[in-house]
Amino acid sequence: MAVIGFIGLGNMGFPMACRLKEAGHDVRCFDVSAGSMARAHGAGLKPQGSAADAVASAEVVFTMLPSGRHVLEVLAAGDLPFAAGALVVDCSTIDVASCAAFHQALQAKGLATLDAPVSGGVGGAAAGTLTFMVGGAVAAFERAQDLLRAMGKNIIHAGDAGAGQAAKICNNMLAGISMLAVSEALHLAKRLGLDTRKFFEIASTSSGQCWALTSYAPEPGLVPSAPSNRGYEGGFASELMLKDLRLAEQAALASQSPALLGAAAANVYAMHCAAGRGRLDFSSIIQMLGASH
Ligand code: NAD
Repeated sequence: MAVIGFIGLGNMGFPMACRLKEAGHDVRCFDVSAGSMARAHGAGLKPQGSAADAVASAEVVFTMLPSGRHVLEVLAAGDLPFAAGALVVDCSTIDVASCAAFHQALQAKGLATLDAPVSGGVGGAAAGTLTFMVGGAVAAFERAQDLLRAMGKNIIHAGDAGAGQAAKICNNMLAGISMLAVSEALHLAKRLGLDTRKFFEIASTSSGQCWALTSYAPEPGLVPSAPSNRGYEGGFASELMLKDLRLAEQAALASQSPALLGAAAANVYAMHCAAGRGRLDFSSIIQMLGASH
């Protein structure tokens, strides 16, 4: 059993902290939201009065916060009383520069650090089936393995510090672009008079095949488990996809990498969110094409 500090008990952090508790760990947690703290108390976690109290005796500290600004404000800027040699694992999805600053600031305090963003959403967090993409030293990765296994199914060491965030941003840029591409193809097929199911059957076994089509089709009636069949409720919110596409754009600019399709997808998602559909699953982007989906 390890003493764990957990900061950020939102949609993702709360179920992740619960998985650690269920695995037998002593989870001392903190969130600025009173509602989140009450929910944590109800679930048998140990809510603390401050982030400082949550980390004070922790061998391993996890953060699951909205953005890089929050991570740096909580961990790097504050003078938190970390236990000597503690391991700090940030699971939030944040920008490349903040991630580098996180590693640098905490390592300067003699702490071990990992960036370990996740894929799998709220459902994956509750079921303990998340994918963790981890950046940092191999020794720190090995130290975190058992705890990450309590929360996830696929635990992948992506490389040195920052590699986890890089993988997350690139993966989600790919997912955002391909969802838009699949939407355009389905929409055009319909306009050309093709039967949607017939086109789906053909593209699923042709060169157009991809995850966005065969596992997560944006058009209802094609993939029974896809959010399109539930009015685009649940799944991965369009506003979170927009956030990740913006992070990818930022990273592409900073590294002078062409990412034309990533930028185009970000703009379409921005319009989609501005139209009030940011909470819908990201496959609802097909609605931007004007069809009655
Ligand atoms: P959320 O907004 O539900 O939770 C964030 C929590 O952090 C909130 O409870 C908030 O009160 C808390 N918080 C903010 N500032 C704080 C501070 N200074 N101290 C303590 N607590 C503070 O967000 P979420 O959906 O849980 O996402 C968390 C991270 O995971 C984000 O970076 C997101 O991009 C990433 N992510 C989310 C999903 C998803 O499906 N929701 C999937 C993969 C990755």
